[in-house]
Amino acid sequence: MQSLKSAIVAVAVLMAGAAAASECPGNPNAIGTSRTIVVDPIEHSQLGSLQYRESLPLEDHEVVLTFDDGPLPPKTNHVLDTLAHECVKATFFLVGEMATNYPDVVRRIEAAGHTIGTHTQSHPFWFHTVPVAKADEEVAKGIASVTSVLGGPPAPFFRVPGLRRTDTMERHLAAENLMTWSADFLADDWTNIGAAQVYARALRRIEANRKGILLLHDIQARTTEALPHLLHELKRRGYHIVHVVPATPDRPKTTTVPSQWISASHARQIQPASFADTNAAVLALPESETGQASPAAPSAEPLGNAAPRCPPAKQERQSNAV
Ligand SMILES: [Zn+2]
Repeated sequence: MQSLKSAIVAVAVLMAGAAAASECPGNPNAIGTSRTIVVDPIEHSQLGSLQYRESLPLEDHEVVLTFDDGPLPPKTNHVLDTLAHECVKATFFLVGEMATNYPDVVRRIEAAGHTIGTHTQSHPFWFHTVPVAKADEEVAKGIASVTSVLGGPPAPFFRVPGLRRTDTMERHLAAENLMTWSADFLADDWTNIGAAQVYARALRRIEANRKGILLLHDIQARTTEALPHLLHELKRRGYHIVHVVPATPDRPKTTTVPSQWISASHARQIQPASFADTNAAVLALPESETGQASPAAPSAEPLGNAAPRCPPAKQERQSNAV
């Protein structure tokens, strides 16, 4: 009988904890983080319907936030402030050199409970043009830099610079047990558009897919400015933010069935041979969607140049040296 009472108390405590976790201190209107998915990179080595057949096993109206190319204060800190205010957990794909330069920001990302993946050592745009061994050096150095700051390895999540993937490199990354993350939608926040357009494009593409991985850049002022508005509007429209973490011996993967990983949007998008093709599919938006002609529309420039141009880390760092 005593053990039954103890069990009831334990369940009550657990439920109270769950209720508290769903609230956001100081912000009753926060969108919050609705759930955490634990994924096994060995089972699913590539994600994101912009380039791959599989994406995360999300339900309708679930969105995963990802941020690339940082850390870069003060912008990354602004993003972290917004995420904290909204009790949202995201995934950051850090550039090794940036992590080395701004270790305090890396530790702040970790302390806030976000997932930390990597994005090479120096964000080379030649990544897809060099032999695997050379590209792998960039991958390994990036992981080593972040590991050195964290005092332990980051998540085995990797994003290819500029999403310039190759079959050979993907096979290599999978063999290294790294999960390569593409995305389901972009907000073009590396291009010369305003915060209002970042907000509008993210929202419209999310609404078109109704679920998926959003790729943003925490090194961009337009993104830091758009983010609070985007989160408010996603909440208003009934969206939920999902956090993704890697499986570990102590943390088993979330139970899913294979069909949940097949991207629903796949049938609507071209399976690209390169990101340039994908970009054409994504950026060739009708004017009615963007509200204006897209400055990055493929018709305005060759496809090869339409690939994402996240600013090189060095260039960004120089212009924002603190
Ligand atoms: Zn990048």
